[in-house]
Amino acid sequence: MPLIVQKFGGTSVADAERIHRAARRAISAKEKGNQVVVVVSAMGDTTDDLIDLARQVCTYAGNEIQPPKREMDQLLVTGEQVTIALMAMAICAQGHSAISFTGGQIGLVTDAAFSKARIQSINKQRIFDQLTQGTIVIIAGFQGVTETGDYTTLGRGGSNATLVAVGAVLGADVCENYTDVDGIYTADPRIVKNARKIDRISYDEMLELSGLGASVLQTRAVEFAKKYNVPIHVRNSQNESEGTWIVAETPTMEHIVVSGAALKKDLTRVTIKSVPDRPGIAAKIFGDIAAANVVVDDIIQNISDDNTANISFTVEHGELADLKTVVERITKELGGGTKAIYHSDLAKVSVVGVGMRVHTGVAQRMFKALADAKINIQNISTSEIKISCIIDLEQGAKALQVVHDAFELGKAR
Ligand code: ADP
Ligand code: ASP
Ligand code: MG
Repeated sequence: MPLIVQKFGGTSVADAERIHRAARRAISAKEKGNQVVVVVSAMGDTTDDLIDLARQVCTYAGNEIQPPKREMDQLLVTGEQVTIALMAMAICAQGHSAISFTGGQIGLVTDAAFSKARIQSINKQRIFDQLTQGTIVIIAGFQGVTETGDYTTLGRGGSNATLVAVGAVLGADVCENYTDVDGIYTADPRIVKNARKIDRISYDEMLELSGLGASVLQTRAVEFAKKYNVPIHVRNSQNESEGTWIVAETPTMEHIVVSGAALKKDLTRVTIKSVPDRPGIAAKIFGDIAAANVVVDDIIQNISDDNTANISFTVEHGELADLKTVVERITKELGGGTKAIYHSDLAKVSVVGVGMRVHTGVAQRMFKALADAKINIQNISTSEIKISCIIDLEQGAKALQVVHDAFELGKAR
C-alpha cells in the first residue's frame, strides 16, 4: 500500500474549520488507498505568541533575562500538542479512526541542543502498528525528546524536518507539505507580486533558497530529503492545484540559469576590531562561535598596518543573544584594543540556479540591476549555484523585486 506523509503548517490549522479541511485531505488520501501519516504545526501564530509570553515573563523589575533554553522548549512543544489532539478528534468526527502522538511517543530522539535540536532516531514500530490497522496517525511536528527525556524543538519551521524525517524512516512514497501558498515561487509571493510558481526544483536549489530566506521550507528538512531521496510536494492546503515538486536534479534543469530569488531580512554584521594578526586566531574565534551552536555567514577579514585585523561576519538577529555572550568572552581573552561592533538593519538578496554552473554573466546582471535601482552592495558572496549581496534592510523588498525582474523570473518559461 502506498504511504503518504502530509504536513499542515500553522495557517492551515489555524481554527476549527481549517483543521476540518486538513482532516478531510488526510481522509481523502486514505480513501484513495494510501496509508496516511499527518504531521502538524502549532495553530496559527501560537509559537510566536508563546515566545512573546516568555519574553514578558523574563522581564522582571526592569531587567530582562534570556529565557532558559530548556524551559523555552518545554513551553513551545505545547503548541503542537494542542493541534495533534484536535486533528485526531476532527478525523474521528468525520467518521474515521485516528490517533495522535507527541514526538516522545514515537521515540523521536534528538541531541540536547535546545531550540535547534537534531533528530537522531525515530521508532517507527508504533506508527506502523497503527497504520496497518487502518488508523490515520497524527504526529506533533517541531518536537522531540532527548535520551534522558527532556523536550526539545527543532528550530523555527521545524515541522518540515519532522515531515521529512518521518517520511524517510517510513519509506514514504511522497511527503506533502501543505501551506498557505500554491507552491515554491520564483520569489516570496508576498513581496514580489509577479512571482511565478515553479513546477519542479532540485534539492540543491531549494537548499540554497531556504538558507537564503525562503522560509517556506526549513533548510534541514531539504537536507534530509536530499540525503534520503524523499520527494517533497509543496502545495496549498486551501485548494486542489498541483504545487511544486522538490526532487533530485535532472540534466534539463541546467538550461534555466536562475530559478529563484530570495531575501533574508534581519541580519546583523558583527565586526571584531583590532584582532591580533597571527595564525590560529580565526580558528579560535569561529571555533568558539560554532561550539555555541551559532551559525555565521559572509566572513571578511581586513588587515591593517599595525599587525592587527578586523574580522566581520553576519548573523541572524535571532542568534544575537547567544553570539554576544561568546564574542564578549573572546574579546576579553584577546585583550588589547580588541572590541566588537554590531551593525543591524541589514538584509541579503540572492539569486539561485543550477544553470549558473554552465552560464556566465549572472553576477554582472545582478549587480547592474541593483546599481540601476541605486541600491548599494555592501558585501558579495557566491557559491557554484548562488550569488548573494548584503544590502540595507530598508531596500530589501525593492532589491528582491529588481533582481527578480532582471532575470525575467516572472515570465512563463
Ligand atoms: P507554514 O505555516 O505552512 O509552515 P510558512 O509561513 O512557514 O508556512 O511558509 C509559507 C510562507 O513562505 C509563504 O506564505 C510565503 O510568504 C513564504 N515564502 C518565502 N519565500 C517563498 C517562495 N520562494 N515561495 C513560496 N513561499 C515563500
Ligand atoms: N510551530 C513551529 C514554528 O512556528 C514549527 C513549525 O511551524 O514548523 O516555527
Ligand atoms: Mg513553516
